[in-house]
Formats: sequence, structure tokens, C-alpha cells
Amino acid sequence: MSNPASDPANARLAWREQVRQEPPKRPVSERVHDFFEIHGIFDEKTAREQASRCIQCPNPSCVSGCPLCNPIPQWMLLTAEGRFLEAAAVMGSATSMAEVCSRVCAADHHCEHTCILDSISEPVAIAGIERFLADYSLRHGLVGTATAPPNGYKVAVVGAGAGGLTCAELLARRGCAVTIFDESLIPGGLLVNGLPAFNIANSVVERRVDLIRKLGVRFQLGVELGRGLNLAELGAGHDAIFLGMDSRTSRTLEVPGAGLSGVVQALPFLLQKRTSVALDIPAPEVAGKRVLVLGAGESAVDCLRVAIRWGAREAVGVYRRGEPDMPCGKANYQSAIEEGARFVFNAMPKAILDDGAGGVRGLRAVRTAPEGQDVRGRSGFVEVPGQEFDLEADLIVLALGFDPKPCLLSSEFSALQVNAWGGLVVDANHMTSMAGVFAGGDIVRGPSVVLETVRDGRNAAEGILRYLAARDGNTRAGATPA
Ligand SMILES: Cc1cc2nc3c(=O)[nH]c(=O)nc-3n(C[C@H](O)[C@H](O)[C@H](O)COP(=O)(O)OP(=O)(O)OC[C@H]3O[C@@H](n4cnc5c(N)ncnc54)[C@H](O)[C@@H]3O)c2cc1C
Repeated sequence: MSNPASDPANARLAWREQVRQEPPKRPVSERVHDFFEIHGIFDEKTAREQASRCIQCPNPSCVSGCPLCNPIPQWMLLTAEGRFLEAAAVMGSATSMAEVCSRVCAADHHCEHTCILDSISEPVAIAGIERFLADYSLRHGLVGTATAPPNGYKVAVVGAGAGGLTCAELLARRGCAVTIFDESLIPGGLLVNGLPAFNIANSVVERRVDLIRKLGVRFQLGVELGRGLNLAELGAGHDAIFLGMDSRTSRTLEVPGAGLSGVVQALPFLLQKRTSVALDIPAPEVAGKRVLVLGAGESAVDCLRVAIRWGAREAVGVYRRGEPDMPCGKANYQSAIEEGARFVFNAMPKAILDDGAGGVRGLRAVRTAPEGQDVRGRSGFVEVPGQEFDLEADLIVLALGFDPKPCLLSSEFSALQVNAWGGLVVDANHMTSMAGVFAGGDIVRGPSVVLETVRDGRNAAEGILRYLAARDGNTRAGATPA
């Protein structure tokens, strides 16, 4: 194919010729009946064409818009030239889990939002191209299992979520002997026990976990730090520890009727509909029901899409603000709308209505109007007096977001300095107040997103190597002493 990017004069103008394309999606009629991933992958020709839309800005704002500071223009140019493995290698310098990040990152809030083309045309399809490259490199064996020679250091990683897996992989590749401990029997954290499989298939996470095992990383599953396993024991057997446990607690709704039996929290709702493991509370019946989901973040949209797949008669989101203020990514939202979800915007819950038998018959809400801005820069809102209305529902899912959950403050954790909400305080190297104990992800920053967590895992691995090298006055850890 002709290659616009190879001619510098044309390269900057290709976006005028090429319209932005999204990776192929399975038809709605098919996908609403299963939990398989809905997106396919660009073919090579489309990947090259789409990458050629990148205008190679001298000060690329997509890089600063990415939490991982991914050198996007570099791999766009290589992709446009058809040098896919080289492109993937450059991309891999920023993230070891591109196949995960490209599936779950709300790119329209990050790199695609800051892409300069967003203001004059459509942004470059960065996430779609990232996904193509990640898949290409895995299929062509670029992501191998080579490691540096053993450096003699042993590191314990607690938590096999995105943060722990990233940290473990990078350390193993640098020659450390790494053991991951997780209380769950299935590694992956929220990637497998939270996010729906239609956004990221379990097999994608399993493939990464397998690769990490092949690097020599050991997994000790079903082991809980703080119960049966303590920090002192871990410290005695390891040169460094990375803590990557979760830290989120679901927000509740303080309105009359919130305790009715037809009101459920988003995370258990998603989990019950995903896991093969029996949970404490029975899975709510969804088939034929009218489901209202309160909230507009990723988990709210996920709940609507899960409800549709379980045969809900109606799946309606209710949000206090307007559509432009929705915290969820555009792609997830659009997919939900295509699949039949609806939203009632500018509506705030006032009460959950009782069906007379302890269940739910609906929601009383009040109209809101935008007013001012809140502390996070989102539109504020006020209730419109006298504008109450009822929505019928059989099941109400609370997806109001998460608050951070304080780190377990049992005696062994009491030496770790915590911040105002109880999250672990770390320095620039991700080391906690305890020498040799590092942390990252939700346990440090509170409920966050995968990319931030991956960045923490990556930076903590570098921090651990610097710490070990400085401690022992050598470079066998594979890093320059700090
Ligand atoms: C419903 C939902 C949807 C989301 N959607 C998105 C999305 O679309 N995009 C996005 O970027 N982010 C999304 N997020 C956020 C994202 O999933 C998290 O920010 C990220 O996965 C956190 O990774 P982590 O490694 O810090 O923690 P986790 O993934 O929570 O992993 C922590 C691990 O620690 C283990 N653990 C906990 N305590 C102990 C202990 N004491 N001992 C041993 N092991 C322990 C747990 O079993 C778990 O495996 C979503 C979150 C939810 C809940």
C-alpha cells in the first residue's frame, strides 16, 4: 500500500484523507447474548492507515495525556511504516501490559482527549492501534520470557492485580526471584473479579499471568496478608516487599428505602454475574426485570450492560448531572447505548419506593439543574423544587462510586505511615515509611484506574531496584544506585 507517513510532506496531512476508524465491533444482536469481548482488532492495512493520521507533533500532548507517558508518536510512525514489531517494542517500554491497558483505558479521557487532532478533526485511534500492536507482538513472539541472570534478590509482591503483576514482571525480567501472594485463588484482581469480560476477557489476563509464571515468578494464592501471613515473615524471607492490595469500599445511598431487598451494590452485582465461585449473597434475578442503575462511572455502565446480557426488560441509568459530565469513558457509554441502555440525566434519587412486600417498585427522583462547578471542576447542580417524578423499577443497582478503604491497621501495619483516609504514604520511589516495603495502586491512591496502577507497579519496580542497589552499594540489582 502507499505509505503516506514515509513522505514527510504528506505525513502531517494524512488525517485529512483518512477518517478515524474504530476497531471492528461485533453486532449488537449477537453480543448482547454473551459475555465475549465486543471489539475485534484492526487489520494491518487499517492499523497503518490509522497510524498515518498522527501528525508527529513536536511537543506531543498525547504523551503528557497518558498516565504512563507512552511515547505514542514514535510507535505511530513505526506502525504507519508497517514496522509493527519495532513499534510494539517502543510501546512496551512504557507498559508491559499493553493488551490490558488498551482494553480498559478510557482513552477519550487521556491520550485521545489531548491528541491535537481532537480539536480540529477526530483524534488518532490510539487505543485501537495500541491493541493491534499488543496483539501482534504477542502473536509474533516479541513478548518473550528472557530474563537477566539471577541477581540473588528475593522480592515479595502482595496482590496479583494490575499493580502487583506489573511490578512482579518487571522485577523478574531484571533477575529478581519474585513471589506473588494473593488472598484470591484467581490472580488478576479487579481485572478478572470486577471488570466485565465483554471489556476484557479473562483469557487476556490469564495469558499475561502465564507469561509472568514463565519468567519464574511464583504464585502463592489463597494467602492473606494480615491473616496467616504477616509482614515480619515476608520481610525475613525477602529483600523487598511490594504491597498492591485493593482499597475500595462502595458508596451507599442515604435515602428512604435504600435497605429494601431489591437494592444491590454494583460490585457484588457484577461479581455475582461473573464469578464461578459461590458468593455470600445469592445473585439477584435480572431476567424480565426493569433495572435502574444509579451513577454514570465505568461500573454503572458495566452494570447496565451486564443487566442487558442477563435479560433485563429495561436497563436505565440515572445520573445527577448531564451527559457531558459522565465520568465513564465514551466507548463504554456508546456501547451501552447501542446495546439498548438508556439514561435519565439531571435526576437525583430522593427515595426508593417499596412494593409493599419488602421489594422495590421504583425510584423517586428530583430534577436537577446545572449550577457552578464542584471542587473537581465538574458541573455542580441544584435540585429543582417541585420537580419530583417516579421511575418504575424492580431492581436498583447502586453504582455511586467508591471511597478509599483504610489499609488494615492491625499491629503489623501500624508502623506504616498512612494519609488522612488511611492509604499508604509512599515517597518518590514508592517506598512506604518502612525501609524495603513499597506500595502502589489503589492502596496508595484510593480507587483509581488501571493505567495509574500499572504506572505505580512499574515505578515501584524501578524504586525497588534502586533501593537494593543503594542498600548494598552495588549494581547487581540491575539499576544505578539512587
Ligand atoms: C466495577 C469496576 C470497573 C472498573 N472499570 C475500569 C475501567 O474500565 N478502566 C480502568 O482503568 N479502571 C477500571 N476500574 C478500576 C481498576 O479496576 C482498578 O483501579 C485497578 O484494577 C486496581 O488495581 P490494583 O492492582 O491496585 O488492585 P486490585 O486489582 O484490586 O488487586 C488487588 C489484589 O490484592 C489482593 N489482596 C487484597 N488484600 C489482600 C491481602 N490482605 N492479602 C493478600 N492479597 C490481598 C486481592 O485479592 C486482589 O487480587 C474499575 C473498577 C471497578 C470496581
